[in-house]
Parts: sequence; C-alpha cells; structure tokens
Amino acid sequence: MKQAIMIEPGRIEFHEVPVPEIKNDQVLIAIKRIGICGSDIHVFHGLHPYTHYPVVQGHEISGLIEKVGVKVAGLKPGDMVTVMPQVVCGVCLPCRTGNYHICDHLKVMGFQTGGAAQEYFPVDVDHVVRLPDGFSLDQAAMIEPIAVAVHAVNRVGNLSANGVLVLGAGTIGNLVAQTARALGATKQLITDINNYKLDKARECGLENVCNPQRENLGDRIIEIFGPDKMDVIFECVGSQETITQAVENARKGTDIVVVGVFGKNPEVNLGFVQDRELRLLGTLMYQKGDYETAIKLVAQKLINLSPLVTHRFAFGDYPEAYRLIEESHGDYMKVMIEI
Ligand SMILES: [Zn+2]
Ligand SMILES: [Zn+2]
Repeated sequence: MKQAIMIEPGRIEFHEVPVPEIKNDQVLIAIKRIGICGSDIHVFHGLHPYTHYPVVQGHEISGLIEKVGVKVAGLKPGDMVTVMPQVVCGVCLPCRTGNYHICDHLKVMGFQTGGAAQEYFPVDVDHVVRLPDGFSLDQAAMIEPIAVAVHAVNRVGNLSANGVLVLGAGTIGNLVAQTARALGATKQLITDINNYKLDKARECGLENVCNPQRENLGDRIIEIFGPDKMDVIFECVGSQETITQAVENARKGTDIVVVGVFGKNPEVNLGFVQDRELRLLGTLMYQKGDYETAIKLVAQKLINLSPLVTHRFAFGDYPEAYRLIEESHGDYMKVMIEI
C-alpha cells in the first residue's frame, strides 16, 4: 500500500509498504478522507514544537473497516468509522481522574505517533468511533474538529441565554460558533481579518460577522449584544491581536476560552484579568463524550458542514494540498485528501 511520509518540513514522499497486520484487539481501516488542519500546517512548516520527522500525518479521518481482529465485537467490515487520535498513558493523575485528554504523556496520531496518511490504517478498537447510517465520509472526517468545538464550548457549561463572541473564523472558530448556537447560545458574533472566511461563516448561517481591520470591533459588539456585551469569548486564532481583543473587550466577570494554539508567547494584560475578574480557560482536544455530542449535532443537522470543505485533493497530490494552502492567502477552510 501507499504511505505518505513527511521526511522533513515541507517534503512529503510516498513509500510502498506492506498492508499492516492487525492484533486481536485492532481493526484495519481503509482510509477514505484525511482533513488537513492548522496543526498539520505547523508541522509542514517545521513550527510544531512537539513533532519529530519523519512523520506520517493524518488525524482527522474517516474510512471503512476492512478487517477486524478476533477479539473485536460490535464492528464489521464495511462500517464507516472515524478515530480518536489520542494515545494516553492511563496511569498519570489526569488519566486517573477522568481527564485523559490532558494526559501527562499525551501522544497524538499524526504528530508523536503514526497517523493515517496511508491506504490502510491499523488502530486499537478503543480509538474507533462508528458513524450512524446516513453519514457521508466528509461528515465523518469532520467529527474530530467538531469535537474540539464541543469540548471548548463545554468548558463554560450552559450557554443558554448567552451571547458569544468568537475571534477567528477558520474551521475551528466557525465550528465553535455553530456548536455554541446548537447548544443554546442566543447570539453569536464571529470575527476574522479574512473576508472569505467571514463569507463562509455567513453561508453557515452565522449572520453577525466583523472584520476588525475594517470596522470597530467594540462598536460592533455593542450593536449586536447591546451595552452589556457578550457573556463568553472564544479566542480561536492564537495570536497577540486576538487575545488582546478578548481581554480588552470582555465584560467584567466573564470567561475567555483560549482555543487557538499560540506559536509565540503573547503578552496578556493580567491587570485587566485581575481587576475585572476575568477567567481564562484553556481547552485541549476532547473526550469520547465530545465525539458523541459532535455526532449527535451533525445527525440532527444542527451544524452546517457543506460550505466548509472548500478544496479536495487525491492522495497522490498531498503536496499540492499544502501548496494551495501556502498560496491561497487564507482563502480556504477545510482541505480534504481523498483516497
Ligand atoms: Zn486537527
Ligand atoms: Zn496519562
């Protein structure tokens, strides 16, 4: 079978390797879709601090079960599945107390351990999540980023009657805003400096958008939410500008959820955090329950995914996908590899 290996930043090679054997408690998945996300792009640029080369990427995936190990129950060849890519130790304090997603020894497939950028992928059955009938392969591959959004939204608990500001309208920001809406938030305002991404937000029914380079964010906040402003802010970019916008615009006593991945350490006005009793909440990946919620929201058609897959490439054109990302000046959402 064909396997795509990133030998070094910016260089993907295809190797012919044997189809993997599976253990008794594993399944073999015929991979059909691989989504490329922001973290993958960091790896491509050599900017991901916790990834070594060579690496096989691929953690936002879907496929069909090809083969099941003798001890595997409840799954059969042909089932459409996705994968939870976290590999955890099971013995550290976070693992022992139900917080395995922040395991002290967390490894993620496609980063610190092999990913699914290959025709057949062997995986332990406890990582496999079956999709209900009626799901498309694209939808199945989007469950992972939706689970990121579900986990982020659940960090603040009940959003009903809440207004939310989402800074960043990339795939994750878009999905955070849609998930907040699906889980009860009454009003959403989403921002980006890229108008293509704001148009995509509108296509997903997120009508309130703001490009802070063209209009005043503070004014727009008052216009949408009124003088009491929003109840929660989600920072989904990971930049100095957006974390500053979050801390400066937050209403006193409210939560800022930090979803974006910061390549550089930002300066944060902790004077405001202290004086205004702001809460900064981190969020990392997800748990099984977040996958289940993500699947439910898609099944109930509460998340509009069709505008989000903007580009597709055949497996053999994996490097072209990164070229598109490089050259598009941010005018893309989810780039999907098809096998
Ligand atoms: Zn990802
Ligand atoms: Zn652990």
